[in-house]
Amino acid sequence: MFSKIVIANRGEIALRILRACQTMGVKTVAVHSTVDRAQKHVGMADESVCIGPPSSAESYLDIPKIIAAAEVTDAEAIHPGYGFLAENAEFAESIEESGFKFIGPRAETIRLMGDKVAAIEAMKAAGVPCVPGSDGPLNEDGERNLSIAKKIGYPVIVKAAAGGGGRGMRVVHTEAALNNAIMTTKTEAKAAFGDDTVYMEKYLENPRHIEIQVLSDMHGNAIHLGERDCSMQRRHQKVVEEAPAPGLTEEERQQIGSVCVEACKRIKYEGAGTFEFLYDGGRFYFIEMNTRIQVEHPVTELITGVDLIKQQLLIAAGEPLKIQQSDIKLNGHAIECRVNAEDPNTFMPSPGTIEIFHAPGGPGVRVDSHVYDGYKVPPNYDSMIGKIITHAEDRHTAIRRMRLALAETVVNGIKTNIPLQQRIMNDQGFVAGGKNIHYLEKRLNEQK
Ligand code: ADP
Repeated sequence: MFSKIVIANRGEIALRILRACQTMGVKTVAVHSTVDRAQKHVGMADESVCIGPPSSAESYLDIPKIIAAAEVTDAEAIHPGYGFLAENAEFAESIEESGFKFIGPRAETIRLMGDKVAAIEAMKAAGVPCVPGSDGPLNEDGERNLSIAKKIGYPVIVKAAAGGGGRGMRVVHTEAALNNAIMTTKTEAKAAFGDDTVYMEKYLENPRHIEIQVLSDMHGNAIHLGERDCSMQRRHQKVVEEAPAPGLTEEERQQIGSVCVEACKRIKYEGAGTFEFLYDGGRFYFIEMNTRIQVEHPVTELITGVDLIKQQLLIAAGEPLKIQQSDIKLNGHAIECRVNAEDPNTFMPSPGTIEIFHAPGGPGVRVDSHVYDGYKVPPNYDSMIGKIITHAEDRHTAIRRMRLALAETVVNGIKTNIPLQQRIMNDQGFVAGGKNIHYLEKRLNEQK
């Protein structure tokens, strides 16, 4: 195992990684921007290095500075967390070239999955079911685009190959709107991701978002840890996640799970990863693979008892997976509510000082958060201030626990989306379970 690693992130995930390291006896180096000096994990880490001003471009996204921090502290590996450089192939490559270990898959794999067109092609070849689509990038040939869309059938969705974070997508309902939409998406993709490659997929109208968690080592062993249902979304961004997915049968789980495991073996995947699918009419359609730990990983941890961050470290250190597929037994139900510093009605970010923070507790309640009394939420980064996760023997009890946990939580001084999460936990449709990706937005529009 590594003796010391750099945590190249901030917030709750930096703290989560630090906790895993401390329980494994691995020393930690926190890197932080000037505005993040008082981050909880910075105080808890064995060493810390200030890597620049608040702007992410000059701190958490600055590759040479992060590598320099590993050099001066004599660390062996770098954990990227999620967001920032977590899916940046160049980052992984620079780390390895500088003689450190990147805690995640090989740069080549990150690059393949970062290009959604290439990812879909690789997945198809590996036998993973995909959304009917353009089978490659779209070009300037309007006639060709029209004929592809006609074959797929409207509505279609035009997506940026380099897209992420729910951006760079446009739904098209008619032939007349198609070529304009392609041009606009291309222009936006170029500006946002520096790459104007776009492709087309059938727009599935009422799917659920169900994703499969995998672990795969460098010795050819791979397992899946069941699924998460992340259908409660706003603007293609997840708001609530749960595991297992309501109504999914054990047979369906094992079937799609083993397809993902085979794909991991085929692409020689190394580390923790997630295959994201849309699930419609009892069928799975691959949309993308995330080559990193995800925000919603705790729901899987709670129902499987597997520490996913610890597994990431073990795999990166070259250990063979000790857990076998038959060891994975799903126990009960877990739900995660993301807590954001934002107005629950307008969704505008609400940075500022948290005067009082009081975390919920009790059986089956987990809080992954870096905030504390007097913590200043900076305006510079993502607005998530933590996650509340509940676990119980069944979904109904997990929801009841979540209602109580949300009611117990106190965050004074800034606005949070807790009132929205409470509405969701009391919503009849959510309580019934199995709603599709448009459900939350529809309900929000009705309540306006
Ligand atoms: P990102 O990398 O930006 O997260 P994804 O490809 O994972 O993009 O898609 C994010 C979300 O967009 C999905 O969870 C779903 O809500 C919606 N979406 C993407 N592709 C389709 C599709 N073909 N049909 C319907 N909805 C889609």
